[in-house]
Amino acid sequence: MQDRYHRKINYLRISVTDRCNLRCVYCMPPAGVKSVSHGQILTIEEIAEVVAAGVPAGISKVRLTGGEPLIRRGVLELVAKLRAIPEIDDIALTTNGILLEKMARNLKDAGVDRVNISLDTLKPVRYREVTRGGNLDQVWRGINTALGLGLQLVKINTVVIRGFNDDELEDMARLTMEHPLHVRFIELMPVGTSENWARGRYIPSSEVRELITGALGNLTDENRTLGNGPARYGRLPGALGTVGFISAVSDHFCDRCNRLRLTATGQLRPCLFSHRETDLKGALRSGADREALTRIFQSTVMSKPDRHHLETDRPQHDRVMSQIGG
Ligand code: SAM
Ligand code: SF4
Ligand code: SF4
Repeated sequence: MQDRYHRKINYLRISVTDRCNLRCVYCMPPAGVKSVSHGQILTIEEIAEVVAAGVPAGISKVRLTGGEPLIRRGVLELVAKLRAIPEIDDIALTTNGILLEKMARNLKDAGVDRVNISLDTLKPVRYREVTRGGNLDQVWRGINTALGLGLQLVKINTVVIRGFNDDELEDMARLTMEHPLHVRFIELMPVGTSENWARGRYIPSSEVRELITGALGNLTDENRTLGNGPARYGRLPGALGTVGFISAVSDHFCDRCNRLRLTATGQLRPCLFSHRETDLKGALRSGADREALTRIFQSTVMSKPDRHHLETDRPQHDRVMSQIGG
Protein backbone atom coordinates (compact mmCIF):
# COMPACT_ATOMS: atom_id res chain seq x y z
CA MET A 1 0.00 0.00 0.00
CA GLN A 2 1.00 3.64 -0.33
CA ASP A 3 2.07 5.73 2.63
CA ARG A 4 1.40 9.43 3.22
CA TYR A 5 4.28 10.36 0.92
CA HIS A 6 3.04 8.24 -2.01
CA ARG A 7 5.70 5.56 -1.52
CA LYS A 8 4.68 1.98 -2.23
CA ILE A 9 5.51 -0.07 0.86
CA ASN A 10 5.89 -3.75 -0.01
CA TYR A 11 9.04 -4.95 1.73
CA LEU A 12 9.48 -6.31 5.25
CA ARG A 13 12.89 -6.82 6.85
CA ILE A 14 12.63 -9.41 9.56
CA SER A 15 15.14 -9.77 12.35
CA VAL A 16 14.81 -13.45 13.22
CA THR A 17 17.19 -13.27 16.18
CA ASP A 18 19.10 -10.60 18.08
CA ARG A 19 21.97 -13.04 18.65
CA CYS A 20 25.09 -13.36 16.55
CA ASN A 21 28.14 -15.59 16.20
CA LEU A 22 30.31 -12.49 15.51
CA ARG A 23 30.76 -9.13 17.24
CA CYS A 24 31.55 -6.61 14.53
CA VAL A 25 33.10 -3.49 16.01
CA TYR A 26 30.60 -1.09 14.40
CA CYS A 27 27.58 -3.18 15.25
CA MET A 28 27.97 -4.58 18.75
CA PRO A 29 29.80 -3.86 21.97
CA PRO A 30 32.70 -6.30 22.74
CA ALA A 31 30.65 -8.40 25.12
CA GLY A 32 27.73 -8.54 22.67
CA VAL A 33 24.30 -7.22 23.50
CA LYS A 34 22.36 -8.80 26.29
CA SER A 35 20.14 -11.23 24.45
CA VAL A 36 16.52 -11.35 25.37
CA SER A 37 15.08 -14.65 26.56
CA HIS A 38 13.66 -17.13 24.06
CA GLY A 39 10.13 -16.45 25.28
CA GLN A 40 10.40 -12.83 24.18
CA ILE A 41 11.43 -13.71 20.65
CA LEU A 42 8.74 -14.43 18.08
CA THR A 43 8.42 -18.13 17.33
CA ILE A 44 8.77 -19.39 13.77
CA GLU A 45 4.99 -19.84 13.55
CA GLU A 46 4.42 -16.32 14.87
CA ILE A 47 6.78 -14.78 12.31
CA ALA A 48 4.97 -16.61 9.51
CA GLU A 49 1.60 -15.43 10.86
CA VAL A 50 2.85 -11.83 11.03
CA VAL A 51 4.02 -11.99 7.41
CA ALA A 52 0.69 -13.47 6.31
CA ALA A 53 -1.03 -10.56 8.08
CA GLY A 54 1.24 -8.11 6.25
CA VAL A 55 0.17 -9.42 2.84
CA PRO A 56 -3.22 -7.63 2.70
CA ALA A 57 -1.34 -4.44 3.67
CA GLY A 58 0.84 -4.87 0.58
CA ILE A 59 3.85 -6.89 1.78
CA SER A 60 5.17 -9.12 -1.00
CA LYS A 61 8.91 -9.20 -0.35
CA VAL A 62 10.80 -10.21 2.77
CA ARG A 63 14.38 -10.31 3.94
CA LEU A 64 15.58 -12.38 6.88
CA THR A 65 18.29 -10.68 8.89
CA GLY A 66 19.34 -10.27 12.50
CA GLY A 67 21.62 -10.70 14.44
CA GLU A 68 22.78 -13.64 12.43
CA PRO A 69 19.77 -15.33 10.83
CA LEU A 70 21.59 -18.62 10.20
CA ILE A 71 22.02 -19.30 13.92
CA ARG A 72 18.26 -19.10 14.46
CA ARG A 73 16.86 -22.56 15.07
CA GLY A 74 14.07 -23.28 12.60
CA VAL A 75 15.22 -20.78 9.99
CA LEU A 76 14.77 -23.34 7.18
CA GLU A 77 11.28 -24.12 8.39
CA LEU A 78 10.55 -20.38 8.41
CA VAL A 79 11.74 -19.99 4.81
CA ALA A 80 9.50 -22.89 3.76
CA LYS A 81 6.51 -21.35 5.56
CA LEU A 82 7.10 -18.00 3.86
CA ARG A 83 7.51 -19.70 0.49
CA ALA A 84 4.10 -21.27 1.01
CA ILE A 85 2.45 -17.81 1.13
CA PRO A 86 1.59 -17.32 -2.57
CA GLU A 87 1.71 -13.49 -2.46
CA ILE A 88 5.31 -13.48 -1.19
CA ASP A 89 7.34 -13.39 -4.39
CA ASP A 90 10.81 -12.67 -3.06
CA ILE A 91 12.68 -14.15 -0.08
CA ALA A 92 16.14 -12.79 0.60
CA LEU A 93 18.63 -13.29 3.42
CA THR A 94 21.44 -11.17 4.86
CA THR A 95 24.16 -13.18 6.57
CA ASN A 96 27.74 -12.88 7.73
CA GLY A 97 28.38 -16.06 5.73
CA ILE A 98 30.05 -18.04 8.52
CA LEU A 99 27.48 -20.86 8.34
CA LEU A 100 26.57 -20.45 4.70
CA GLU A 101 28.68 -23.23 3.23
CA LYS A 102 26.82 -25.74 5.38
CA MET A 103 23.36 -24.26 4.89
CA ALA A 104 23.23 -22.74 1.40
CA ARG A 105 21.84 -25.80 -0.39
CA ASN A 106 19.06 -26.30 2.19
CA LEU A 107 18.23 -22.60 2.17
CA LYS A 108 17.87 -22.63 -1.59
CA ASP A 109 15.77 -25.79 -1.49
CA ALA A 110 13.52 -24.27 1.18
CA GLY A 111 12.93 -21.23 -1.04
CA VAL A 112 15.53 -18.51 -0.53
CA ASP A 113 15.91 -16.51 -3.76
CA ARG A 114 18.89 -14.32 -2.94
CA VAL A 115 21.63 -13.83 -0.36
CA ASN A 116 23.63 -10.83 0.77
CA ILE A 117 26.89 -11.64 2.50
CA SER A 118 28.66 -9.11 4.68
CA LEU A 119 32.38 -8.81 4.04
CA ASP A 120 34.38 -5.71 4.94
CA THR A 121 37.89 -6.87 4.12
CA LEU A 122 39.81 -9.42 2.04
CA LYS A 123 42.56 -9.77 4.65
CA PRO A 124 42.18 -12.60 7.18
CA VAL A 125 43.80 -10.72 10.07
CA ARG A 126 41.67 -7.63 9.52
CA TYR A 127 38.58 -9.80 9.21
CA ARG A 128 39.31 -11.36 12.57
CA GLU A 129 39.82 -7.86 13.99
CA VAL A 130 36.66 -6.21 12.65
CA THR A 131 34.43 -9.18 13.49
CA ARG A 132 36.25 -9.85 16.78
CA GLY A 133 37.15 -13.44 15.95
CA GLY A 134 35.67 -14.39 12.56
CA ASN A 135 37.39 -16.71 10.08
CA LEU A 136 37.55 -15.28 6.56
CA ASP A 137 38.06 -18.70 4.95
CA GLN A 138 34.67 -19.83 6.16
CA VAL A 139 33.01 -16.80 4.57
CA TRP A 140 34.73 -17.41 1.24
CA ARG A 141 33.62 -21.02 1.27
CA GLY A 142 30.07 -19.75 1.88
CA ILE A 143 30.29 -17.23 -0.97
CA ASN A 144 31.61 -19.84 -3.38
CA THR A 145 28.92 -22.31 -2.36
CA ALA A 146 26.22 -19.67 -2.97
CA LEU A 147 27.71 -18.84 -6.39
CA GLY A 148 27.93 -22.55 -7.24
CA LEU A 149 24.25 -23.05 -6.46
CA GLY A 150 23.28 -20.42 -8.99
CA LEU A 151 21.30 -18.29 -6.54
CA GLN A 152 19.80 -15.45 -8.55
CA LEU A 153 21.87 -12.67 -7.03
CA VAL A 154 24.80 -12.95 -4.67
CA LYS A 155 25.64 -9.58 -3.16
CA ILE A 156 28.51 -8.59 -0.92
CA ASN A 157 27.90 -5.85 1.67
CA THR A 158 31.00 -3.85 2.53
CA VAL A 159 30.80 -1.16 5.19
CA VAL A 160 33.39 1.48 4.30
CA ILE A 161 35.49 2.50 7.28
CA ARG A 162 38.16 5.20 7.17
CA GLY A 163 41.51 3.96 8.42
CA PHE A 164 40.36 0.35 8.28
CA ASN A 165 39.43 -0.80 4.77
CA ASP A 166 39.75 2.35 2.66
CA ASP A 167 42.95 0.90 1.16
CA GLU A 168 41.05 -2.20 -0.05
CA LEU A 169 38.09 -0.69 -1.87
CA GLU A 170 39.72 -1.12 -5.26
CA ASP A 171 40.41 -4.81 -4.53
CA MET A 172 36.84 -5.31 -3.35
CA ALA A 173 35.49 -3.68 -6.53
CA ARG A 174 37.83 -5.81 -8.63
CA LEU A 175 36.04 -8.94 -7.37
CA THR A 176 33.21 -8.03 -9.76
CA MET A 177 35.57 -8.42 -12.71
CA GLU A 178 36.06 -12.14 -12.18
CA HIS A 179 32.88 -13.21 -10.38
CA PRO A 180 29.19 -12.50 -10.98
CA LEU A 181 29.13 -10.79 -7.59
CA HIS A 182 27.44 -7.51 -6.76
CA VAL A 183 29.70 -5.64 -4.36
CA ARG A 184 27.90 -2.86 -2.48
CA PHE A 185 29.73 -0.21 -0.52
CA ILE A 186 27.70 0.92 2.47
CA GLU A 187 28.16 4.19 4.31
CA LEU A 188 28.92 3.66 7.97
CA MET A 189 25.90 4.77 9.99
CA PRO A 190 26.14 6.28 13.45
CA VAL A 191 23.57 3.96 14.88
CA GLY A 192 23.10 2.38 18.32
CA THR A 193 26.25 1.69 20.31
CA SER A 194 28.47 2.31 17.31
CA GLU A 195 27.76 6.03 17.27
CA ASN A 196 30.97 7.00 19.07
CA TRP A 197 33.02 4.39 17.27
CA ALA A 198 31.77 5.61 13.90
CA ARG A 199 32.77 9.24 14.49
CA GLY A 200 35.60 10.21 12.11
CA ARG A 201 35.46 6.87 10.30
CA TYR A 202 32.63 7.68 7.92
CA ILE A 203 33.43 8.06 4.19
CA PRO A 204 30.71 9.30 1.80
CA SER A 205 29.88 7.15 -1.23
CA SER A 206 30.93 9.95 -3.58
CA GLU A 207 34.52 9.57 -2.33
CA VAL A 208 34.40 5.77 -2.66
CA ARG A 209 33.09 6.07 -6.20
CA GLU A 210 35.87 8.47 -7.21
CA LEU A 211 38.49 6.21 -5.76
CA ILE A 212 37.17 3.19 -7.65
CA THR A 213 36.63 4.88 -11.00
CA GLY A 214 40.04 6.56 -10.71
CA ALA A 215 41.69 3.18 -10.28
CA LEU A 216 39.55 0.84 -12.39
CA GLY A 217 37.79 2.91 -15.04
CA ASN A 218 34.32 4.33 -15.51
CA LEU A 219 31.23 2.73 -14.09
CA THR A 220 28.43 2.33 -16.60
CA ASP A 221 25.12 2.99 -14.84
CA GLU A 222 22.98 -0.09 -14.40
CA ASN A 223 19.47 1.20 -14.58
CA ARG A 224 17.70 -1.95 -13.50
CA THR A 225 17.44 -2.28 -9.76
CA LEU A 226 18.96 -5.43 -8.41
CA GLY A 227 16.56 -6.58 -5.74
CA ASN A 228 14.50 -4.28 -3.54
CA GLY A 229 17.07 -1.99 -2.07
CA PRO A 230 18.17 1.58 -2.48
CA ALA A 231 21.65 0.88 -3.91
CA ARG A 232 22.78 2.58 -7.12
CA TYR A 233 24.71 0.21 -9.35
CA GLY A 234 27.37 0.56 -12.03
CA ARG A 235 29.50 -1.89 -14.00
CA LEU A 236 33.25 -1.71 -14.55
CA PRO A 237 34.45 -2.30 -18.12
CA GLY A 238 34.11 -6.03 -18.92
CA ALA A 239 32.94 -6.95 -15.41
CA LEU A 240 30.74 -9.97 -14.67
CA GLY A 241 29.18 -8.34 -11.63
CA THR A 242 28.35 -4.81 -10.53
CA VAL A 243 29.48 -2.27 -7.98
CA GLY A 244 26.79 -0.65 -5.82
CA PHE A 245 26.64 2.24 -3.41
CA ILE A 246 24.31 2.47 -0.45
CA SER A 247 24.46 6.05 0.68
CA ALA A 248 22.30 5.83 3.76
CA VAL A 249 23.78 8.95 5.29
CA SER A 250 24.73 11.27 2.43
CA ASP A 251 21.89 10.62 -0.01
CA HIS A 252 18.85 9.95 2.08
CA PHE A 253 17.10 7.60 -0.30
CA CYS A 254 14.08 7.84 1.95
CA ASP A 255 11.99 9.18 -0.92
CA ARG A 256 12.36 5.71 -2.50
CA CYS A 257 11.87 3.78 0.74
CA ASN A 258 9.64 0.72 0.46
CA ARG A 259 10.19 -1.00 3.79
CA LEU A 260 9.03 -1.79 7.27
CA ARG A 261 11.02 -3.64 9.91
CA LEU A 262 10.04 -6.39 12.29
CA THR A 263 12.31 -6.77 15.33
CA ALA A 264 13.14 -10.16 16.81
CA THR A 265 10.84 -9.38 19.73
CA GLY A 266 7.92 -8.73 17.43
CA GLN A 267 7.86 -4.94 17.25
CA LEU A 268 6.88 -3.43 13.93
CA ARG A 269 8.88 -0.31 13.00
CA PRO A 270 8.07 2.17 10.27
CA CYS A 271 11.70 3.29 9.84
CA LEU A 272 15.18 2.22 10.88
CA PHE A 273 15.66 5.49 12.74
CA SER A 274 12.25 5.86 14.23
CA HIS A 275 11.74 4.97 17.88
CA ARG A 276 8.07 4.41 17.27
CA GLU A 277 7.20 0.74 17.21
CA THR A 278 4.02 -1.29 17.57
CA ASP A 279 3.85 -4.44 19.62
CA LEU A 280 2.70 -7.10 17.17
CA LYS A 281 3.81 -9.88 19.48
CA GLY A 282 1.64 -8.57 22.33
CA ALA A 283 -1.32 -8.32 20.00
CA LEU A 284 -0.71 -11.81 18.63
CA ARG A 285 -0.29 -13.38 22.06
CA SER A 286 -3.39 -11.74 23.41
CA GLY A 287 -5.45 -13.33 20.68
CA ALA A 288 -5.63 -10.69 17.95
CA ASP A 289 -6.84 -12.21 14.69
CA ARG A 290 -5.17 -11.75 11.32
CA GLU A 291 -7.34 -8.76 10.40
CA ALA A 292 -6.36 -6.94 13.56
CA LEU A 293 -2.69 -7.60 12.80
CA THR A 294 -3.19 -6.33 9.25
CA ARG A 295 -4.61 -3.11 10.68
CA ILE A 296 -1.38 -2.69 12.70
CA PHE A 297 0.58 -3.01 9.44
CA GLN A 298 -1.65 -0.43 7.79
CA SER A 299 -1.29 2.11 10.58
CA THR A 300 2.49 1.54 10.68
CA VAL A 301 2.70 2.23 6.94
CA MET A 302 0.74 5.45 7.49
CA SER A 303 3.12 6.48 10.28
CA LYS A 304 6.26 6.23 8.16
CA PRO A 305 8.29 9.44 8.46
CA ASP A 306 9.29 11.20 5.26
CA ARG A 307 12.99 10.61 5.91
CA HIS A 308 15.72 10.33 8.52
CA HIS A 309 17.61 13.38 9.68
CA LEU A 310 20.96 11.73 10.34
CA GLU A 311 22.98 14.69 9.08
CA THR A 312 21.54 16.94 11.76
CA ASP A 313 19.88 14.79 14.40
CA ARG A 314 21.29 12.36 16.88
CA PRO A 315 19.98 8.90 16.13
CA GLN A 316 17.75 7.03 18.53
CA HIS A 317 19.78 4.95 20.96
CA ASP A 318 17.20 2.49 22.07
CA ARG A 319 18.46 -0.50 20.11
CA VAL A 320 21.63 -1.50 18.30
CA MET A 321 21.69 -2.60 14.69
CA SER A 322 21.70 -6.33 15.44
CA GLN A 323 18.48 -5.92 17.40
CA ILE A 324 16.61 -3.87 14.82
CA GLY A 325 17.84 -5.96 11.90
CA GLY A 326 20.32 -4.07 9.74
N1 SAM B 1 24.56 -10.68 10.72
C1 SAM B 1 24.15 -10.44 9.40
C2 SAM B 1 25.23 -9.75 8.60
O1 SAM B 1 26.19 -9.25 9.19
O2 SAM B 1 25.11 -9.73 7.37
C3 SAM B 1 22.84 -9.66 9.28
C4 SAM B 1 22.62 -8.52 10.22
S1 SAM B 1 23.72 -7.14 10.03
C5 SAM B 1 23.12 -6.03 11.30
C6 SAM B 1 23.15 -6.46 8.51
C7 SAM B 1 24.07 -5.48 7.84
O3 SAM B 1 24.13 -4.29 8.61
C8 SAM B 1 25.51 -5.96 7.66
O4 SAM B 1 25.87 -5.88 6.30
C9 SAM B 1 26.32 -4.97 8.47
O5 SAM B 1 27.56 -4.73 7.91
C10 SAM B 1 25.42 -3.75 8.46
N2 SAM B 1 25.68 -2.83 9.56
C11 SAM B 1 25.71 -3.08 10.88
N3 SAM B 1 26.00 -1.96 11.59
C12 SAM B 1 26.17 -0.96 10.68
C13 SAM B 1 26.48 0.43 10.75
N4 SAM B 1 26.69 1.04 11.92
N5 SAM B 1 26.57 1.13 9.59
C14 SAM B 1 26.35 0.53 8.38
N6 SAM B 1 26.05 -0.77 8.25
C15 SAM B 1 25.95 -1.51 9.37
FE1 SF4 C 1 26.69 -9.91 13.76
FE2 SF4 C 1 26.01 -8.92 11.42
FE3 SF4 C 1 26.26 -7.29 13.52
FE4 SF4 C 1 28.42 -8.39 12.48
S1 SF4 C 1 27.05 -6.94 11.46
S2 SF4 C 1 27.90 -8.30 14.68
S3 SF4 C 1 27.70 -10.32 11.82
S4 SF4 C 1 24.76 -8.87 13.30
FE1 SF4 D 1 13.23 4.28 4.91
FE2 SF4 D 1 13.65 5.34 7.33
FE3 SF4 D 1 15.64 4.10 6.01
FE4 SF4 D 1 14.70 6.49 5.18
S1 SF4 D 1 15.75 6.06 7.12
S2 SF4 D 1 15.19 4.73 3.88
S3 SF4 D 1 12.51 6.31 5.67
S4 SF4 D 1 13.76 3.17 6.78
